Amino acid sequence: MTDRSPLVRAAREGIGSLPLYSAESAVCAIDLSDNTNLWGPPPAALRALSQAGAPSLARYPSLYSEPLRDLLLEYTGLAGGDFDTITGCGSDDVLDSAMRAFSRAGASIAFSSPTFTMIPVLARLNDLKPVSVPFADDFDIDAEQLVDAAADITYLCSPNNPTATAASRPAVEYVVRNATGIVILDEAYAEFAPETFEQLVRESDRLLVARTFSKAFGLAGLRVGFGVGAQALTRLVARARGPYKVNAMAELAVRAALEPGASGRDWVAARARTVIEHRARLAAALVARGLNPLSSAANFLFVPTPDAVNIARELVARGILVRVVSGIPDSPSVLAGARGTALRIGVGPWDMMEALLTALDEIRS
Ligand code: PMP
Repeated sequence: MTDRSPLVRAAREGIGSLPLYSAESAVCAIDLSDNTNLWGPPPAALRALSQAGAPSLARYPSLYSEPLRDLLLEYTGLAGGDFDTITGCGSDDVLDSAMRAFSRAGASIAFSSPTFTMIPVLARLNDLKPVSVPFADDFDIDAEQLVDAAADITYLCSPNNPTATAASRPAVEYVVRNATGIVILDEAYAEFAPETFEQLVRESDRLLVARTFSKAFGLAGLRVGFGVGAQALTRLVARARGPYKVNAMAELAVRAALEPGASGRDWVAARARTVIEHRARLAAALVARGLNPLSSAANFLFVPTPDAVNIARELVARGILVRVVSGIPDSPSVLAGARGTALRIGVGPWDMMEALLTALDEIRS
């Protein structure tokens, strides 16, 4: 379809040139490419799904996931205040809806770069001018530059995808306190981070914290994300989102996964603890092989290397899929030698990590 075709001309301006999301598609026995839970879903969620009866399918789900609200507020430590939640078909949907709610003529969104690839796409889709700000040298967010951008929306991602790095508390607080517009803080990888920032919604009714069930909770296939913030804010986002975005089966599984107990929430927390242990072991093993991941606060490692494309191709030949990240900038300085490419490698059960290390040894010998 060329840009001059009548169909493209009839469409909304710019939509024909928006990229479709693309992800690695090779079918590999070991898939470390998408930062999901490599142990799978929590047993309580599987049980809830297998026991679901016909009414769960024949009737509409709740409008705005009302049955999840109290559980989500309790999970994030925000029960009992003027806070509310907004769910969505993945946290993508929450981010998209939040942008739509706050997009006005000429509005802009500022974010540190590189970050989650959907952000510039969702920005364009919502007529927001993207303003990208480089990371500081230590891979903290550059809080002053983000605030100085005076954007209508400031997007922070901590831990950040793809770099796995975490923002510091002073920098996040500076942005939350001084940003002119609203702040969206994406904590998709919160469960793996040494600290999280959702309590800052107590200080600012302009902060929306986004979380997901796709990563630590092992439910990516069900597509559930949520945002938490002041009720006045989540209600605006709900209007932009629309009803019935989380389906009935997903709602059942999420309720079960959040239940305290060894097959629900505690199962998730235990797997997250194991990820944190394996992350350190894998990072050390990579360093011993001349690959230098950035310090990770997430369930993946980001390894800047000019050999990323070759290494990934050789790994696929051995049944292992990792993500190649290209187009990364050459600053901060640690990225300078990577010639714009990096590997993003998911952390999971040690037998998978061992298979990866064995394959790397074969490739490099
Ligand atoms: N935010 C970040 C930082 C992500 O990495 C992802 C998934 N890759 C998402 C949001 C979206 O996740 P989901 O829509 O599955 O909740």
